[in-house]
Amino acid sequence: MDLTNKAEQASRSKSNFLARTSHEIRTPMNAIIGLSELAQREYGKPKALEYIAGIKNAGAGLMAIINDILDFSQIESGALPLHPAPYQTASLLNDALAIIRVRLSEKSLKLVVAVSPDLPESMIGDAGRVRQIMLNLLSNAVKYTENGFIKFSASGERLHENAARLTFIVEDSGIGIKSEDLPKLFGEFSRVDEKRNINIEGTGLGLTITRSLCRAMGGDITVRSEYGRGSVFTAMLTQEVADWKPMGELSEISMNRDDEPCATFIAPEAEVLVVDDFHSNLLVAEGLLAPYGMRVFTCLSGLEAVKLVRERFFDLVLMDHMMPEMDGVEAIHAIRAISGKRFRTLPVIALTANAVSGMREMFLENGFDDFLSKPIETAKLDATLKKWLPEGKRRKPPQDASGNPDSAPSAEMPVPEIEGVDAASGMARIGGSKSRYLELLAMFCRDAQAGSELLGKTPDHASLRSFTTLVHALKSAAANIGADGLSQTAASLEMAGRETDMPVIRDKLPAFREELAGLTARIGAVLESARNGNGEEGAGPEMTKTLARLRGALQAKDFDAVDAALARLQALPLPAKTRAAVSEAADSILVADFGKAADRLADLPN
Ligand code: ADP
Repeated sequence: MDLTNKAEQASRSKSNFLARTSHEIRTPMNAIIGLSELAQREYGKPKALEYIAGIKNAGAGLMAIINDILDFSQIESGALPLHPAPYQTASLLNDALAIIRVRLSEKSLKLVVAVSPDLPESMIGDAGRVRQIMLNLLSNAVKYTENGFIKFSASGERLHENAARLTFIVEDSGIGIKSEDLPKLFGEFSRVDEKRNINIEGTGLGLTITRSLCRAMGGDITVRSEYGRGSVFTAMLTQEVADWKPMGELSEISMNRDDEPCATFIAPEAEVLVVDDFHSNLLVAEGLLAPYGMRVFTCLSGLEAVKLVRERFFDLVLMDHMMPEMDGVEAIHAIRAISGKRFRTLPVIALTANAVSGMREMFLENGFDDFLSKPIETAKLDATLKKWLPEGKRRKPPQDASGNPDSAPSAEMPVPEIEGVDAASGMARIGGSKSRYLELLAMFCRDAQAGSELLGKTPDHASLRSFTTLVHALKSAAANIGADGLSQTAASLEMAGRETDMPVIRDKLPAFREELAGLTARIGAVLESARNGNGEEGAGPEMTKTLARLRGALQAKDFDAVDAALARLQALPLPAKTRAAVSEAADSILVADFGKAADRLADLPN
C-alpha cells in the first residue's frame, strides 16, 4: 500500500472510530445526566439508591472508554509510561481473576485456571499494566463467548539471572474470528465482524493497547482462532524477578471461590464502608457483601474514607492497606485521632494483598481491629463480619427462617399472603420492612408488565436474545419477592434460551405466562388492599416509643443514640407519612443538622 492510501485508510479508520465511539460515549453520558436528575427528584426515597447505582455503572463505563482513549493517545505519541515496582505474583493474578469471576457471574461459562506453581513469588514491573493485559484478554473472552468455557493459563521461564519471560494464554469456546479478519485484529480502532457483534460494547482499542503493552514489556501477542469455535490469545512479556522462590499453587490461595457464598447471617440494618483505590476491587467486595443484605458504601481513597466516617455512622469499615496518597495506616490514624468515642471504637478491618507473617501485629499496633487478606475468602469474611458487627444487627438468613423467632417477622409486621409467594422470606431479604416489600412487589409487577409483549409469543431468531435476558431478569426478580416456583421456571427458560432449545421454550412458555399473569393479578389485589388500608397497621407503641427516643437523642446531641434510634425506626413498618418524615429527618442527621431533623419529626404523633 502506498503512503497516500495508507494515510487515507488511517483517516477513514479514525472517522469510523469517532462515529462509533461518540455513540458509546453519549450513552453513558445521557445515563449519567438522566439518572442524576431522577436521583435529585427522588432524593430520600429508596428508588434513589437504584438510580445512584446506575450513575456509578454509567460512570464506570465512560471511564473505561476514556482510559482506552488516553492510553491509545499515549501509545500513538510513543510515550506509554511504565512504572515498575515490586509486586506479589499471586496477588496480581488473583486480583485479575476475581474481577473476571464477577463478570462471569452474568453468564453460564466455566472458568478454567491453570497457573504454574513455579512462577516466581515476587517480580518487579508495572503490575497495573500487567493486570490490564490479563483483563483485556479475559474480558474479551467473556464478551465474545456465550456458552462453554474460558481458560486462563500462566507460565514462566528463566531468561537470565534476574528476568523471567511470562506467557499468558487465554482460550475461549466463543464466536471465533474469521481468518481474513485476523490481520486486522490489532489494528487501531478496528472491530471485526461488526454486524454479528452489534450488541457487544467495545471501542476496538483493547487489543491495540494490549499489544503495545506487551511490546513495551519486551514481548508480543499472537492469536489463533477458528470461526464459530473459539480463539486462543497468547501474550508474552518479560518481568524482572525479585524473588525466584516458586509462588506455589494458586488454587490453595484462592481458587476455593467456586463454593457458594457462605453468609451465615444477614444484617440488613448494618452500614459498612469499603475503601479501596481500585474500582474493580470495590465491585468484588460489594459482590461478596451482597448476601448479607447490608448497605454497602464505597470510596476510593483514605482521605475520602476519613471524611465519610465523620459524616455517617458506619458499623464497620473494610480498608485497603496500600492506597496512593493517604494509605490505610495513615487513614486509620486520622480516624482514631478524631475526638469522640465512636471514632475509637468503630471496627476497622484492614484488607491486604500481601499477607505475610508479622502483618497482623503491624495492623493491630496501628489501630486496626483485624485484617483480611485479599482475595477475600468467603468463610473468613463471614467469621470476621460476625465477630465485629454489633450483635443486635445480625439476624438468621431467610432460608433458616422456618419458625425461628430471630428472623420470622414479628407480629407487628403482618406478612401479606399471596399464593405462590413465600412473602416471609421475601420480606426478610429486604430487612423485614413491609412497606419496602410492598414497593418491591409493585416493582416486580411493573417489570413483568413491561416484558409481557416479549413473552406474548414464542421468540424467533431475532428476539431470542432479548427473551433470554428478560427471563434471566425475571428469574432474580421472582426470587427476590420469594416466588421461588416462578423463578425456577424462568431459570429453565433462560437455560433453554441460551441453548436455543426451541422445543423446551415452546413447551414451557405458555404455562410460565399463565403463572406470571396469575401472580401479578394476586399481587395487584394485595397492593390494592394495602393502599385502602392506608398502610397504618403496625404503627403501634414501638413506633411512638422509638420516635420519643430519637427526639430525646437529637436534643441531647448524642450521636450514638440518634444512630441507634433512627436505625430501629427505619426497620419498623411505618405509615407512609411517618416514613417520609423519618427519611427526611435521616437526611438532615446525615449532615449533622439535628435541629432541622427534630423539626421534621415535630408533626408526628407523640
Ligand atoms: P473491543 O473493545 O471491540 O472488544 P478489542 O480491540 O479488544 O476491541 O477487540 C477487537 C475486535 O476483536 C473485537 O471487536 C472483536 O470483534 C474481536 N475479538 C477480540 N477478542 C475476541 C474473542 N475472544 N473472540 C472473538 N472475537 C474477538
